[in-house]
Amino acid sequence: MHKQPAVKIMLRLLHMVTPLAPTMLACIFLGILGNLSAVLIMVFGSMVVASALGIQLALPFKALVGLTLAAALVRGPLGYFEQLMGHDVAFRLLSLMREKIFGALRRLAPAKLIDKRSGDIVTTIMGDVEYVEVFFAHTIAPVSIGIVVPLTVLIFAGTFWYGFSLILLVFYLCTLIPLYIARHVRATGRNYHAGFSAINTHFLDSLQGLRELIMFGRAEDRQKEIRRKGQELTDASRKLRRYEGFVMALSESCILGGTAAVLFSALYRLHLGDIGIDGVIIVTVTAASSFGPLVALSALTNDLMHTFAASERIFSLLDEKPLVIEHPGAHSRVRHNTPDINYNNVLFSYPGKDESVCRDLDIAIKPNTKTAIVGPSGSGKSTVLRLLLRFWDVDHGEIFLNGENIKEPPLSYLRSNMTMVSQDTYLFNDTIEANIKTGNPAATTEEVETASRRANIHDFIMTLPNGYQTRVGESGCRLSAGERQRIAIARALIHDAPVILLDEATSNLDTLNEGSILKTIAHEFKDKTIITVSHRPSTIVGADTIMVLDEGTIVEQGTYGELMNRNGTFRQLLKHGRADASLQ
Ligand code: ADP
Repeated sequence: MHKQPAVKIMLRLLHMVTPLAPTMLACIFLGILGNLSAVLIMVFGSMVVASALGIQLALPFKALVGLTLAAALVRGPLGYFEQLMGHDVAFRLLSLMREKIFGALRRLAPAKLIDKRSGDIVTTIMGDVEYVEVFFAHTIAPVSIGIVVPLTVLIFAGTFWYGFSLILLVFYLCTLIPLYIARHVRATGRNYHAGFSAINTHFLDSLQGLRELIMFGRAEDRQKEIRRKGQELTDASRKLRRYEGFVMALSESCILGGTAAVLFSALYRLHLGDIGIDGVIIVTVTAASSFGPLVALSALTNDLMHTFAASERIFSLLDEKPLVIEHPGAHSRVRHNTPDINYNNVLFSYPGKDESVCRDLDIAIKPNTKTAIVGPSGSGKSTVLRLLLRFWDVDHGEIFLNGENIKEPPLSYLRSNMTMVSQDTYLFNDTIEANIKTGNPAATTEEVETASRRANIHDFIMTLPNGYQTRVGESGCRLSAGERQRIAIARALIHDAPVILLDEATSNLDTLNEGSILKTIAHEFKDKTIITVSHRPSTIVGADTIMVLDEGTIVEQGTYGELMNRNGTFRQLLKHGRADASLQ
């Protein structure tokens, strides 16, 4: 990840606030007034008490009571509107940020997100957005208030005697000491959070694997591990608590020390006759109640560290360049319903890897034909399909769809020409109808039903409690693998693309289910161009052409009969019972 300086991150976050600047400024303004009115409540309130005790003050008792009540009455609404506006800005910005993140992921997917680890990054980043809320809702306004309120108090106290300002300034600066030392506990804070999520994951892992642990007699060891991790977390937590305790003690000492220092010097000024008793009360109470915004400021540091780390991750995702760039000025074409496909001398290696996955790859696929690509595991079969969909771009050579380089048209056009059904069909946590409609959101209910009938899943759907409106549950877990694949086929049918790519589409199914789904595919997609990638010999029987891929290049091709007669690589593969068995 590209490391960015904290100032740059902060400026970028502030820049995001610009469109909502009026609301943010209003929030800061109300916050300042609110905090000043809190000081006034204390000042007038103490004067009321002093007056009640018979001390002669410049203002009469009733006026003081009135002023205290007035300050108290405005304090509530000011605090309320400050919080309301601050959070309104924050949540509007967070929703904008989530949208931007999804946009970035859309651009980057699938090339940069295809592996599982990237999936985890996505989850982390969505969690990171929550941390950014701290900056928008709890940093900008408190920092501004933490500067303006103490400054106002310093100026005000200075009107009585400049010494009060100097004394207060020293104690204010002491209150901010945690800002300087926070960096020393930063590592402890990070360790604590990392340890916290590690122990959660470990615990969940242990729970899920409890049966295995008991079966293999490893539960005791696992328990010891949990104890050790728990102990480490407690140690880190103890360090953090010690720091927090120190910060709290420091704040309290500053407030009490500052107030006492101002009180004693005020009494001394009273003794000298420089100020009256009102002055002593006003200055002391003002001093005592002016630390709030600074204490809030110094308490920010911990959260802010997480916010910056989180923002850094978010910004580096937003800045990441996609691997596949749309051709500038590309405009959509009228779809050709019988396109041919040609790979011409294609060379490709995955980014960051030296080894070529495809080399000298030449493939010619005629319209409305069935092609099966077989080869050893890792020979590049799935990659051949991904290149056609432009998940990645070829390093050399070209791929043509209907005579046109696939880099020319927009990606949306390319993907409207093809449908991929893979072994792990993703079903959204939505209704069955919505899941099928992913293939074509404009489809009518009748069209969804027709597609489901053709995919042989309609009768099953009708047995569900809410038919097509039944929710499939998270990740489609309430459906069997076969049912999920049939929904994927219904989805593909409704998408109605002329080219169908089957990437191990039936690999997760038992032989019976596979046979029946292959029959559906053969029947329902008979007028389409089909490219199948599979390690099961059963899937290649109906193919017009079988291509044998080895180390990223086609080493043999022909009809099933031709290849069986040849006694070459293909027969060798079949001998092992798997169309992707190792050739050695
Ligand atoms: P097959 O489908 O024949 O099993 P693949 O096309 O999935 O083969 O993979 C071909 C090679 O490319 C393998 O060595 C695999 O490890 C590598 N590979 C696949 N996907 C990626 C990826 N996203 N990043 C880097 N290497 C990859």
